[in-house]
Amino acid sequence: MTKVRKKINFGAGPAPLPAEVKDALAASIHSVEDTGLSITEVPHRGPFFRQVLEEANALVRELCGLGQEVEVLWLPGGGRAQFALIPMNFIRGPQDRVAYLDSGAWAAEAYHYASYFGKAEIWASSKDQGYRQLPEIPDETPDFRYIHMTANNTIYGTQYAAYPRVDRPLVADLSSDIFSRERDYQRLDLFYAVAQKFLGVAGVCLLVVKKSFLQTAREDLPPFLSLKKQAEMNSMVNTPPVLAIYTALLYLRWYKAKSLSWCYEGLSRRAGRLYEEIERNSQLISDRRSEDRSRTNLCFQLRAPERQGHFLQWMEERYGIVGIEGHRSVGGLRVSLYHGIDDGDLDLLVQALQEYEHVSH
Ligand code: PMP
Repeated sequence: MTKVRKKINFGAGPAPLPAEVKDALAASIHSVEDTGLSITEVPHRGPFFRQVLEEANALVRELCGLGQEVEVLWLPGGGRAQFALIPMNFIRGPQDRVAYLDSGAWAAEAYHYASYFGKAEIWASSKDQGYRQLPEIPDETPDFRYIHMTANNTIYGTQYAAYPRVDRPLVADLSSDIFSRERDYQRLDLFYAVAQKFLGVAGVCLLVVKKSFLQTAREDLPPFLSLKKQAEMNSMVNTPPVLAIYTALLYLRWYKAKSLSWCYEGLSRRAGRLYEEIERNSQLISDRRSEDRSRTNLCFQLRAPERQGHFLQWMEERYGIVGIEGHRSVGGLRVSLYHGIDDGDLDLLVQALQEYEHVSH
């Protein structure tokens, strides 16, 4: 058998897991904790999985600084399912208007999904600026049912440094944002995050909602699609994605063991170093507004974009670096720094960029 070279994945998701999480996940395939069963076969209504949910929910509350005022849900279907479920549950009739901050392609797609269910509006947009910056928030807030934002724009590499202050319920897509920096989660009435970036593997989406906001949701929906029913049934209207939820628990335990401040410091240090290198390196440019730059997904380009194909091949062949091509809709380059990437990985990337600067002269 040929030996496969290990690669470093700087992709935007599915993201690499921290080593400890990956090891625990691998062990759980054979026997999960003291059950004698694989995680792929534990019964979802049995005591082990009940405990998994209980611990995961408690850790989400603790890490986010929240208490019993919120419901914690684990829903299958990823980000796009929430793009649909949220307006489906919260637009109660033609009187309800919902607003979307259009900061990039995912935000625009969330708006598009909402428009199937009622009066959805783009409240502010930075589309005309090519999404290189975040939209300016208008002074006046009409009587919206909720305002939806995308905290980190995975494709465009911009991120809110703080969640905006608005006086209507704020709903946030935190898919590439959660646990990336210090956040005031109490400010949000509802937030959701796909698991495949900061919480493990694809197949589940974390959704946290204030009970007071959930109380205002519709009741006349099929149980699987009803957030109220999902909360009542502890995310178990159907067979939940047990493996993905268990992986999220392993990741949450990792956050607690390491501490969020340690995670934030590491991410901020690595992002700062890479932006410094992008600015210094004569072969690279980044045109994102500096105060809106993302720590999670760093977007930049080669000064000679016609060399991109060669560059990507060189990075993979010489350094085993993969996943750094920009999203297919925008091109260029993008490096994602989820917590599975450590200082050693970043050192190697910077070394590769520096070497490329010399060889490409
Ligand atoms: N929101 C954001 C911010 C994303 O980056 C993504 C995908 N990477 C999604 C939503 C969509 O998630 P999914 O592919 O699970 O539908």
